[in-house]
Amino acid sequence: MENHQDIAGVLLRYHRFLIVTHQMPDGDGIGSMLGLGLALQKKKRQVIMTCPGGLPENLRFMPGSDQTVHPDEVPSDGYDVVVALDSSDLGRIEGIYEKIPNDVPIVNIDHHMTNKGYGTYNYVDSASAATGEQVYKILVAMDVRVDSSIAICLFTAIATDTGFFRFSNTTPTTLRIAARLVEKGAEPGDISEQVYEARPLESLKMLGRALDTLQVDKSGKVAWMEIYRDWLSELSLDEGQAEGFVNYARMIKGVEVALIFRESSDGRIRVGMRSKGNFDVAALAQALGGGGHARAAGCSLESQSMTEAKELVFGKVYEIMGLAGD
Ligand code: 5GP
Ligand code: MN
Repeated sequence: MENHQDIAGVLLRYHRFLIVTHQMPDGDGIGSMLGLGLALQKKKRQVIMTCPGGLPENLRFMPGSDQTVHPDEVPSDGYDVVVALDSSDLGRIEGIYEKIPNDVPIVNIDHHMTNKGYGTYNYVDSASAATGEQVYKILVAMDVRVDSSIAICLFTAIATDTGFFRFSNTTPTTLRIAARLVEKGAEPGDISEQVYEARPLESLKMLGRALDTLQVDKSGKVAWMEIYRDWLSELSLDEGQAEGFVNYARMIKGVEVALIFRESSDGRIRVGMRSKGNFDVAALAQALGGGGHARAAGCSLESQSMTEAKELVFGKVYEIMGLAGD
């Protein structure tokens, strides 16, 4: 297992980079990718940046996002090294990793405790609130001068993964790094507005429908909501527009596990999980083939109906809780 200094040394050995982050990318994935990409360009390196599914609209304000390419345009040669960010297993970069030649090393930089250690080099640190924190440490070790563009990307990465510094993963180090990034030109108010206050009207209409499905089980400890594929077509929205909805289920007093079940366009059911208290949703997600953190995790279930998916997930939740369920 490598640390940030080792990784800085490894990266500086190479000249042509392919930098990728996970499917359904969030602020941490995209911010880390762009922050690292822009920094390597300052070091006169060639960089290709991509993620499965492309960038969500509300993250395109970040500098460098216009340089990202669609996964279909990623060549199977022309780079000496691949850097995978915020991705706990190779399934998260499905559609891209298949193209990577066997002799090209992979540098795996991630903060999920469920990370599979799939890289040639692995810098996995579950004490980091965000992959953006790890990237910042690497840039310092590489002696890159962080400019306002890089600062905006890395601040967005860290702020989004910590719910703007409210979640329990926020540490003194997180806040110190964030403060440095603000000094370098990241503006928290502006970034918060770009990420959270630029939704289309239809996205909030969908939130209304999702809130209508919100329920709590008999124990009062498990809350869930549902999102149906038809809604996305009716409202002309993509799946990414449901980002953050699951947090509403966690707001209910007494709830320890919050779930969202989303019918995806590829026929899978995506399950988003959040917890409050001691319940470990990373363990729940892992038992279902997914991954994540103790308080925020997820999985994707193949060929299941909504009812089957709920039965499967609830069964596991009650097993872990030691409750019989219904
Ligand atoms: P979100 O609910 O915000 O999409 O994801 C919460 C956390 O769970 C993130 O850290 C994300 O990486 C992880 N996660 C969500 N879905 C999956 C999945 O299908 N597989 C894995 N390995 N991790 C997931
Ligand atoms: Mn992350």
